[in-house]
Amino acid sequence: MGVEDQQQRRDTGSGDAVAGGSVHYRTCPLCEATCGLEVTVRDGRVARIRGDRDDVFSHGFICPKGSTLKQLHEDPDRLRRPVVRRGDPADPTAWEEVDWQEAYAEVERRLVPIIEQHGRDAVAIYLGNPNAHHLAGALYARPLIRSLGTRNVFSASTVDQMPKHVSAGLMFGGPLLIPVPDLDRTDFLLMLGANPLESNGSLCTAPDFPGRLEAILARGGRIVVVDPRRTKTAALAGEHLRIRPGTDAHLLLALAHVLVDEELVTLGPLADHTEGLERVPELVAPFTPERVAPVTGIAATTIRDLARDLAAAPRAAVYGRIGTHTVSFGTLASWGVDLLNALTGNLDRPGGAMFPLPAHTATGTGGPGRGYSTGRWASRVREYPEVNSEFPVATLADEIFEPGEGQIRALITVGGNPVLSTPDAGRLDKALGALELVVSVDPYRNETTRHADVILPPPSPLTRSQYDLAFTALSVRNVANWSPPLFEPDGPPEHEILAKLSLIAAGQGADADPAIVDELLLHGVAERASEEQRGGLSVDEVKAAVDGPGRAPTDKVLDVMLRTGAYGDRFGARPDGLSLAVLQANPHGIDLGPLEPRVPEVLRTRSGKVELAPAPIADDVARLVADLDRDRTGEVLLVGRRHLRSNNSWMHNVRVLVKGRERCTLLVHPDDAARLGLADGATATVRSRVGSLVAPVEVSDEVMAGVVSLPHGWGHDLPGVELSVAGERPGVNSNVLTDADVLDPLSGNAALNAIPVEVSPVVS
Ligand code: SF4
Repeated sequence: MGVEDQQQRRDTGSGDAVAGGSVHYRTCPLCEATCGLEVTVRDGRVARIRGDRDDVFSHGFICPKGSTLKQLHEDPDRLRRPVVRRGDPADPTAWEEVDWQEAYAEVERRLVPIIEQHGRDAVAIYLGNPNAHHLAGALYARPLIRSLGTRNVFSASTVDQMPKHVSAGLMFGGPLLIPVPDLDRTDFLLMLGANPLESNGSLCTAPDFPGRLEAILARGGRIVVVDPRRTKTAALAGEHLRIRPGTDAHLLLALAHVLVDEELVTLGPLADHTEGLERVPELVAPFTPERVAPVTGIAATTIRDLARDLAAAPRAAVYGRIGTHTVSFGTLASWGVDLLNALTGNLDRPGGAMFPLPAHTATGTGGPGRGYSTGRWASRVREYPEVNSEFPVATLADEIFEPGEGQIRALITVGGNPVLSTPDAGRLDKALGALELVVSVDPYRNETTRHADVILPPPSPLTRSQYDLAFTALSVRNVANWSPPLFEPDGPPEHEILAKLSLIAAGQGADADPAIVDELLLHGVAERASEEQRGGLSVDEVKAAVDGPGRAPTDKVLDVMLRTGAYGDRFGARPDGLSLAVLQANPHGIDLGPLEPRVPEVLRTRSGKVELAPAPIADDVARLVADLDRDRTGEVLLVGRRHLRSNNSWMHNVRVLVKGRERCTLLVHPDDAARLGLADGATATVRSRVGSLVAPVEVSDEVMAGVVSLPHGWGHDLPGVELSVAGERPGVNSNVLTDADVLDPLSGNAALNAIPVEVSPVVS
């Protein structure tokens, strides 16, 4: 479709004038839902934030977090200048504010000798979730990794989503080729381990996820939620199956078993585009509903009926998320989700699970691709295979503690808070304290960055432009939205900070001009664009075409991507196509239409087909078969939970979001409470193989018997943390209980759910 018909007459540069101020529109950067916000500014300050009713995707939806960008922007705890630590983190006088040049010089003074003496693998990098939420993180992290030249790369991906990347890579040929449930057209949504009424969606970008679910029911459709807890999402769905934590993969393969056994398999649009269908019956054969029922806690008749209903639904989608992925069978479960979508003819079909086509990418050509593999190298201590060029964050502490060549001696963190979010957090906390150097790019002194020797704070999100590279690729509708910066930054932009670190790591020194990295990045995309034009613009002409007064380097790169993307203007060859200028002229975003079938064009597998039984996954099924017979008697399993007002550990320093009753409680079923002698409001000790904590008890039949639940992202009472609001109600860190030795072997993802624990009352 052309885009000119959607252009509006608004110049976002100045915003719309309102009495005593101006109104601006921008995409919320806080979670994957990418809601449009309407921000009113008066006297240079945010006066009000509400949902943008004209946003083409969110239509005015906003959650309580979205309106707190003002509080985040003005938070007195947010660092405005770099700090250098010269002593114990708990000693307030150890932290010294310095200017930017001094901070970079300090990084160079301490980082370069470590590289020279111990080699490049001695420096590790950890990339947190926030990097997926802005252009600088998405574009400048890779040059930094390249400059460091280290194999010790870790990220939040092995905390919660690597299983999806691995199954997508093996089935479709690329780790980012993730089908999303076509929420707006499906008749039947089977949702496992996901609670979008609290999370607002993950690996599925859908602003107003609750409204989209309600619409499924309103049009006569069904939603079935599989979860150990009666979540808000389960309550909305009305159909809830309680499942024993960690057994989603067993259930999914039992559903596939029924489809095969009852000859209900129909590949629909995929009929000519699959490989490996003949292997599926043997793989799912052991997972009879009768055998899986006592494992999952879901009756065999229910499993059979669910499989039949799924097969019979005109348009159905299976969607699994955190509870499905963050267990030791995460990749098998992730495969099971898309296997079911394929076997029921719902993969790549409207109303099923579909591949988005974001504006910054081009369509593929179909045919055999490069394929996907893992394990090109292995971690030093535990020999975990690399996955997407990184190692499991669960082994970061091992690599720090274990002496020898390649031992990690320095760490650069960019966003994220692994001390709260990764397994065996107590051990990682100690490990970070043992490092020779920690450099953190982060706006706060939090549980992780309290270990930093140098903190380089990026400015507030309201000072940067916004375009979601990651989430438009996971979107239930193809949309594009760009927002200009709202305020002048109070320090160098994040891309500049990352560029400076890249140059220091590359040996060019703290005085090197960050424009060197800007130019390298732009040259790279311009070169590709020029080649694809075949006789069109030269590299220099492409660069000139995206130049403009005051334009950020990130936006120039984005413009090249947009103009050469699937809807792009091809630098004038397609006059009604997209460019950054077109997005600038459309502050409420541009709707590029519903998702369209993309198989086979989207595939990158070596066969050029959807691989239904990729060898690494098929080989791992034996492990799941063995687990069918494991004795589970007396197990109490810990699971996490989300809350609308939290976003991992991010939002606990915003008073309006943490007020009200205590949220960091241990949910216990009444039967377990009676058996264990736990009273509502009392405290309990929770012990796992690796740690213990004390938490207040909340007795509730919301959780199933044999399961306890504790939210993650809490535990803000460590010495040296400078989060004054969060510190008032610190809560406890659930990850002191998670076991770093328990991983999903195919993806290296941590098992943050289904953790065996013992619970006992605290006797005063
Ligand atoms: S749902 Fe997510 S994107 Fe939307 S307002 Fe809330 S935090 Fe922002």
